[in-house]
Amino acid sequence: MKFSLYLGRYSGIKVFIHWTFSLILIWIFFTSMRSGLSLIDTAWSLIFVLSIFLCVILHEFGHALTAKKYGIQTKDIILLPIGGLARLEKLPEDPKQELWVALAGPLVNVVIFLVFSTIISLSGIQLVEMEYIQLRGSTLLLYIASANLILAIFNMIPAFPMDGGRVLRALLSLKMPRVKATAIAGGIGQALAIGFILTGIFYNPILVIIGIFIFLGAQAEVTHTKQNSLLKGFTISDAMMTRFQVLPFDAPLSKAIKNLLDGQATHFVVVKDDQPYGTLSREEIIKGLNEQNEHISIEKVANLHPLKLDLYLPLEKAFKTMATQKNKVALIYEQNHFLGILDQENISEFIMVQKAKSGL
Ligand SMILES: [Zn+2]
Repeated sequence: MKFSLYLGRYSGIKVFIHWTFSLILIWIFFTSMRSGLSLIDTAWSLIFVLSIFLCVILHEFGHALTAKKYGIQTKDIILLPIGGLARLEKLPEDPKQELWVALAGPLVNVVIFLVFSTIISLSGIQLVEMEYIQLRGSTLLLYIASANLILAIFNMIPAFPMDGGRVLRALLSLKMPRVKATAIAGGIGQALAIGFILTGIFYNPILVIIGIFIFLGAQAEVTHTKQNSLLKGFTISDAMMTRFQVLPFDAPLSKAIKNLLDGQATHFVVVKDDQPYGTLSREEIIKGLNEQNEHISIEKVANLHPLKLDLYLPLEKAFKTMATQKNKVALIYEQNHFLGILDQENISEFIMVQKAKSGL
């Protein structure tokens, strides 16, 4: 993760903290000092904020370790000023699994709340009569307990893709297809997000940022779920191109430019001794032209380590592999026979066709 500080790892999951997090600490330090708080009180505020973010990390581990129980790995956990994020390698599709993974985070906060509340009540600290409870060593536990209760409640707001929204989607998925459940949860999430943004404009700018994240996140997940459901049950063989243009590896770039302008193709197969040798995309042609000239050989600008995929790989998986490896095109093989190519445009067209067929 860029611009992040590595904090450590637990159960194979690395934890990072984003640099912007330091802005929060600086902001708290200066606002505390400016409002006339003593250095000790300021220190307590900082300790409190750090404790809460530790609780946020534990919350994320709740998600990550529950996912791990279902065989889903977590790439890392990153701490941002607006909250934590456990980057699961994939989301559980089984509604029951999704339900538990989503609930596990807020449950961690509930447990922390209960443990700290019990400690407070057993220790007999008298807090009731104080109107304004100052943040101190003795009241820190109370602050942490209340903050965890707020965290649990806030995360359970059914604003998809927040935890509560995921719980809602999982519950709906028990009764209806996942795509429909996602669309409903996404709609509710976006409506609540607009509410967050409007409230935030008047009261708290952080709420605006959270609202925007929820709105865009909901949209992205609805689209993603819809696309994946349309790709389900198909393999690369259903979508690949068997008609494509080839270019000799030692031809000048000008030949590629001519082919690019002359037809619809945006990806070309570069061949050497009649065998596929690499791929050449429109972007690579333009880049080559920008940095060099049209007389250099195609080999110099082509991708000579192309992605190779199997003909019978599920289309969903191919789509994901191409996206994560940032490859817009792949060479398709059946055992060792080269058969054709698959590019992202291909997959988009396939999705459009399936969408029209299914009436989604
Ligand atoms: Zn969560």
